[in-house]
Amino acid sequence: MSSALETLRRDFGGDIIEPGGAEYESASRTVVASGSPAHVLRPQSAGDVQAGVRFAASAGLLLSVRGGGHGFAGFGTNDGGVVIDLSDLADVEIIDKERHLVRIGGGATWGEVAAALGPHGLAISSGDTKSVGVGGLTLSGGIGWKVRKYGLALDNVVAAEVVTANGEVVHASAQKNPELFWAIRGGGGNFGIVTAFEFAAHPTTDIFFGKIAFPASQAATVLQGWADYMRSAPEELTSVAVFASPLAGGSDAPAEIYVAFDGDDLEFADQAIDPIRRLGTVIDDDIALKPYSDTLEDGGAPPPGIQFVVRSAFVDRESVPDIVHILAEARASEQPPVIAVRSVGGAVSRVPDDATAYGHRQAELMLVTIAVGPKPAVEAARPALETIWEKLAPHVNGAYANFLTSATKEDAAAIYPAQTYKRLAAVKRRYDPGNLLARNHNVRPQ
Ligand SMILES: Cc1cc2nc3c(=O)[nH]c(=O)nc-3n(C[C@H](O)[C@H](O)[C@H](O)COP(=O)(O)OP(=O)(O)OC[C@H]3O[C@@H](n4cnc5c(N)ncnc54)[C@H](O)[C@@H]3O)c2cc1C
Repeated sequence: MSSALETLRRDFGGDIIEPGGAEYESASRTVVASGSPAHVLRPQSAGDVQAGVRFAASAGLLLSVRGGGHGFAGFGTNDGGVVIDLSDLADVEIIDKERHLVRIGGGATWGEVAAALGPHGLAISSGDTKSVGVGGLTLSGGIGWKVRKYGLALDNVVAAEVVTANGEVVHASAQKNPELFWAIRGGGGNFGIVTAFEFAAHPTTDIFFGKIAFPASQAATVLQGWADYMRSAPEELTSVAVFASPLAGGSDAPAEIYVAFDGDDLEFADQAIDPIRRLGTVIDDDIALKPYSDTLEDGGAPPPGIQFVVRSAFVDRESVPDIVHILAEARASEQPPVIAVRSVGGAVSRVPDDATAYGHRQAELMLVTIAVGPKPAVEAARPALETIWEKLAPHVNGAYANFLTSATKEDAAAIYPAQTYKRLAAVKRRYDPGNLLARNHNVRPQ
């Protein structure tokens, strides 16, 4: 046994899972990717994370970090290296009732957070799925059902406990290590392993939530009207337009507008939602008052062999008519990808551009295409997908790291605007000069 491994076995308090072990098969996979790591480590404390990081560095092994395991690029596993699986660091604790401060373990999921905070009348704007991890989603953004009122998930982070690449525990906040605090809010897992986040939660009532569906043939007018309306809609309203869902019939699928209205006042909610109802012929409307935690989907793992190709980009106001036209055409094609367009703006765009490392605050919309299925079907869909993105290219900008299966240099350049990348590279040089944390949309130390 190598001395690095001996030291790990001495210092590490959690499970060490290796090929042949009982849990190896499930531990080596993420929700979307499979791998064959040499060691999967399940830390029980920040001290265990330190031991795991030091082991990977001294053994010269590739290091993956797994939070909720939902990252589309599959960074949460690897072949032959070390996976630090944070799933046991999942406590959710209210640490200051007056200020609604909540400490959340770096491996918690958003379902665990919503369930713990709901009984206290609190919530954190996050994503739309329970099984998605707090870590991955927050470090690169976090566009959820309250995003227009409370901003990105990362806008609600007030501090973090981080194990850096040299195995030290560092605290990051506006007061302590502010450059690291800036970098982890948008720069993904490049700068350290977050063992705990401190969030400022917000009070929540039950909220109005559901979908309004229109015939597929009205998709273009509905999307244009929806985008125009969301520009001036109250910030209590957050909305996502979905087209061509394969579960609802692909190109014949109705145009679905999901809405979340942050409040329980029926009159105000109707005033905010009715302009959407008037966009076309409503064929379904299931909006109802629900606890915030019930608005989140369960998620869960797709069957083995299912692949994803996920691409994303941001849309500024002047490009909306062009993208409406292109997406309406794409939706009607023979084998369309799922197309989802999320309204952003609101609280996201009020945070100064340089306050965090998230790069696309002035966009009105974030659009995502998802091709999903067995490998041959996804491969067959690729040329049509390329054509759609070639048409979109002149009218969109950037990329949202959380909705990307690829991880090229070009992707990093799309995620991090040039000035942001330069500043991130300097923080990387300070906290991870050897680029140990490289399984991410990588920022190279400079
Ligand atoms: C079904 C589904 C629904 C989704 N819905 C939304 C949504 O509504 N809004 C949205 O914004 N995004 C959404 N996403 C995208 C999601 O934000 C990303 O997939 C994200 O990477 C998931 O985080 P994770 O911790 O579950 O993933 P993982 O695969 O565990 O982590 C991905 C990477 O993030 C980094 N990381 C994770 N945790 C830590 C940590 N504690 N410290 C340091 N680095 C860490 C590591 O680099 C890790 O490899 C969704 C994804 C799926 C699959």
